[in-house]
Amino acid sequence: MNVLFRKSLNSIALLFRYAPGLTILKLLQTGVSAALAPLSIYFTQRMIDTAAGIIKDGGGWNGLALWVGLLLCAMLFSSAGGGFLNGILYIAIRRRLNIGMTPDIVGKFKRLDYACFEDKDVQDTLERMSRDPQDKVFQLFLTILGVMECMIGVAGGALIYAQAGWWFVAGFAALLVPMIWLDFKAADMMNTMFNEQSADERKMRYLGGLLSHKSSLFELRIFRAGEYVAKKWRALAHTVMDTRVKTTLHAQKYFLISTILFKCWSFFIVISLIASVVSGDITIGLFTALIASTGAVLGNADMLSHTVQNLRRRYLLMEHYHKFMSLPEIRHGGESLTGEPPHIVFENVTFAYPKTDVNVLKGVSFEVRRGKRVALVGENGAGKTTVIKLLCGLYKPDGGHILINGKDIQALDAAALRRVFSVVFQDFCKYELTLRENVAFGDLSKLHDDGALQDALEMGLARGIAELDTPLGKLEENGVDVSGGQWQRIAVARACLPGSAFVILDEPTASLDPVAESSMYHSFAKVLKNRGCIMVSHRLASARMADKIVVLSGGIVSETGGHDELMSSGGLYARMYESQSAWYAKGGAGA
Ligand code: ADP
Repeated sequence: MNVLFRKSLNSIALLFRYAPGLTILKLLQTGVSAALAPLSIYFTQRMIDTAAGIIKDGGGWNGLALWVGLLLCAMLFSSAGGGFLNGILYIAIRRRLNIGMTPDIVGKFKRLDYACFEDKDVQDTLERMSRDPQDKVFQLFLTILGVMECMIGVAGGALIYAQAGWWFVAGFAALLVPMIWLDFKAADMMNTMFNEQSADERKMRYLGGLLSHKSSLFELRIFRAGEYVAKKWRALAHTVMDTRVKTTLHAQKYFLISTILFKCWSFFIVISLIASVVSGDITIGLFTALIASTGAVLGNADMLSHTVQNLRRRYLLMEHYHKFMSLPEIRHGGESLTGEPPHIVFENVTFAYPKTDVNVLKGVSFEVRRGKRVALVGENGAGKTTVIKLLCGLYKPDGGHILINGKDIQALDAAALRRVFSVVFQDFCKYELTLRENVAFGDLSKLHDDGALQDALEMGLARGIAELDTPLGKLEENGVDVSGGQWQRIAVARACLPGSAFVILDEPTASLDPVAESSMYHSFAKVLKNRGCIMVSHRLASARMADKIVVLSGGIVSETGGHDELMSSGGLYARMYESQSAWYAKGGAGA
């Protein structure tokens, strides 16, 4: 309970940071609205008793007017506070959270250390933070208010009971505790089941997605594997539903006992109160108030166990929020680069991915002279993409140095690094926005510079795919669906736009056919002029046009040199090249 209380204060403090005045107002409005329910019962009690007094003894009209007035005020405030004010505060706080919290979360995403995105332990946190976290924080606050409301309702009811004697309060508490425990147990059972089923539900969603998404459905039909996937989905759905039915039946038993207790207590109250009112021990007003309070208080007690359960579930989101906000951020140095074109040196670089102990790079050394075209080749898993990620500063080397004009890249500021490299990864992004935006994301200062955008499209061999302002993809009604190869060309155009000293292509051409890839690299060689290029391709025909080829193998650079030089030395490159040439000669589709 202590932890729940501390965490409640934490989340109220978080909301207070973004909307201090509104949070106080909402707390006040909730507190007053919750207190008005027992107060209204009390005012009714006094009104009835005063009216009974007037009938019996006459006079006392002022007293009656006072209780009627107070009851009317309470009812008016209840409807205004519960409806109108509540609605206004809801929207206003939600808006403040959107304005204040969204940029903080987006900013944190931008600053996150890249390694976080690859860490499976933080994947769930990142996924939750990308799905409307402001709303979840707000829902948590509303749940806390819900608990507060129930507690005020129960306390108010206890005060009304106290008028009938403290034995009444004690009896009520003796019933309430097991009732809340039973409800809590039932709700806990249901929650645990939902939590345990979340992995199966994710799997079900995935399998369902396979059966409804265009690309997978198409492939599944061709392979006639659709029925297999559907069967798997059905089996999982059966297991999930069976468990759900069993647990619900089990939980309902607890709810049933709790309801029986409630009914017995109500029956006992009615009987004993009728006796008391007949014998004149209590007034008719108090009798009415006690009956009304019984329903209200037990309703609140029932709600309490549900809202506390909800609270426990929603706190998980807060844990994710705090975990997210404390994730490590990228640290860039503050040094800039001087005007001369960059010269890159990899010096004995070693690297293992976080949470692994396998050294992917075991002392990689090579250099890229300014304006040169370098091809990074090697077998799958040799570490080519890893080299590119280190070069872009996405990870830090464990040993050795990566130097640009003699300066360690970790000492450079982010803007300086961006002027050196722009990169297209294999899994580049397809933005379902206009073609203009797709290209301009490379350098947003050129968003309206049609000439520069067209030049970039030219370099990526993407000219003529669509008009600049045509939306791509299916999001917009007039959107144009472009092919995988066309998306790749657009991604290359995006990387060409910023005019960085080097363009890095990490096999973005994988879904182009070998002839188109070769033609793209040729056009590239022409348009790059004095800009350098680092390309990764497993098709060695493309590597041929590079000034220098760096061959990675076993975590080190096993060979470097020009195509002819490497061919005549007869090493790994020559063997790979010859096996690919033989494959081409046999008519294989793409090396
Ligand atoms: P290449 O680009 O040459 O095919 P990569 O650089 O992608 O090779 O991968 C080199 C090695 O590092 C592979 O064994 C791969 O499994 C491993 N690896 C790649 N990314 C990760 C990662 N995020 N976490 C752990 N290991 C990784």
